[in-house]
Amino acid sequence: MANQDDFFKKVVAHAKEYGFIFPSSEIYDGLAAVYDYGQLGVELKNNIKQYWWKAMVQMHENIVGLDSAIFMHPRIWKASGHVDAFNDPLIDNKDSKKRYRADVLIEDHIAKIEEKIEKECEKAHKRFGDAFDRQQFVTTNARVLEHQKKIDEIHERYADCMNRNDLDGLKQLILDLEIVCPISGTRNWTDVRQFNLMFAMRSGNVSDRTSQSDKMGSVIDDSDTLYLRPETAQGIFVNFLNVQKSGRMKIPFGIAQIGKAFRNEIVARQFIFRMREFEQMEMQFFVRPGTELEWFKHWKEERLQWHLALGIPADCYRYHDHEKLAHYANAATDIEFKFPFGFKELEGIHSRTDFDLSRHSEFSGKKLQYFDSELNESYTPYVIETSIGVDRTFLAIFSHSLKEETLEDGSTRVVLSLPAKLAPYKAAVLPLVKKDGLPEKAREIQHLLMPDMMVQYDEKDAIGRRYRRQDAIGTPFCITVDNDTLTDNAVTVRHRDTMQQERVSIDQLPAYLKAKL
Ligand code: ATP
Repeated sequence: MANQDDFFKKVVAHAKEYGFIFPSSEIYDGLAAVYDYGQLGVELKNNIKQYWWKAMVQMHENIVGLDSAIFMHPRIWKASGHVDAFNDPLIDNKDSKKRYRADVLIEDHIAKIEEKIEKECEKAHKRFGDAFDRQQFVTTNARVLEHQKKIDEIHERYADCMNRNDLDGLKQLILDLEIVCPISGTRNWTDVRQFNLMFAMRSGNVSDRTSQSDKMGSVIDDSDTLYLRPETAQGIFVNFLNVQKSGRMKIPFGIAQIGKAFRNEIVARQFIFRMREFEQMEMQFFVRPGTELEWFKHWKEERLQWHLALGIPADCYRYHDHEKLAHYANAATDIEFKFPFGFKELEGIHSRTDFDLSRHSEFSGKKLQYFDSELNESYTPYVIETSIGVDRTFLAIFSHSLKEETLEDGSTRVVLSLPAKLAPYKAAVLPLVKKDGLPEKAREIQHLLMPDMMVQYDEKDAIGRRYRRQDAIGTPFCITVDNDTLTDNAVTVRHRDTMQQERVSIDQLPAYLKAKL
């Protein structure tokens, strides 16, 4: 498929056409950065959540689940630091009136220089063929070294401004780099301001629509302000003692939760990558102080393995260690994925020290400690967090799976080669013709399989078109019922990715499919 932008447009169009994702409130012209999951989207999304829950909760005897409320006591967000520090630096272009994240403008500028390095590498690769040694090239080629030097200099200034919260410095950097607004093409920028990402509403009149929308996007800090949670993690911290005591949990142990989170993102133009309402899968792992960096390493590796187990190639993932650590962290890394618009964060793994529990102790006046009977002492546990967006995982898997293939006969097919365990429908049962008792036999097979998996029945159009429809929604197996089925009690199973066909006896079919899934 053509270039990145075109491909991304195809991803968005395919998601809509086949009932995976619709823009929210579409008949009212939509609501920016909010999306609805359609009949197939909800299946894929549920399967992703189940796959995570199984791996994190069911397969770990020392990790348990939680489902805490979205609304929480307002002081929680004071304690967590979100009221004071959950900000992004924003900047407006005075000509186009478009708003940007100042940090993203700078990061995009760096990405453009990185692209130049990539182009130099590609050119050299073509020139030297198999003898091309990338490592040697990027450490010796003069043009690459010059680009890299520029990147390092920008990085240094940028990290320094972010660490010192120097908004004027950020603006100066944008001016010095001569970054222009992609819409107006001008450098007519406002000053950089901090923007709090939490959606807020007055607790006294949560149902009052007027005051609710008044609060959207504004920065407020009153003690009677309720917030829509910007992350699920705090629900876990404030339940730490409840779970530990009622579950008789021994350190090290984890609490996992899947749930909605809300952020008033300044710029949200990347489909479900950056939404204002989204879902997170988070796990907080409580450990002895001093062991946190070992556990950080453990979870960093284990989470990457979870991704790789989906069968997506390893070169689609990379770690990005943080240079600027959040106020609560002593180590942090992202697992980035090669999205259609480049490598971007998919999951964060953070060593959060004892920051959260200590702050909640301080703000609530309740002691949030653990008595370690082996050490015979009480302490505030340290925490390793793994935090991944459901929607970003959806986008990663969906966009990677969407392919346009040219077949041997020159025709093309669009196939969504989803990992079979995540596919909305596992099988489609297709009678070859709509007569001779084949539909009845096909319905029988559908009902045989339904208790174990999602199965679709389709009798409309020629068999080839039906295969294409199933390819486009990612169904791994098509089961064709033909005239021979009535005598040999067997069906043809067609595999989505290879398009190969096998004859399988109906008695064996449920076990055959379950083994493949
Ligand atoms: P970014 O730098 O991309 O804004 P973040 O560092 O703020 O992300 P975290 O606070 O670490 O993100 O949140 C954990 C995970 O939640 C992210 O890795 C991402 O998968 C998901 N996530 C965060 N914000 C959004 C959003 N606006 N829309 C969809 N998913 C999100």
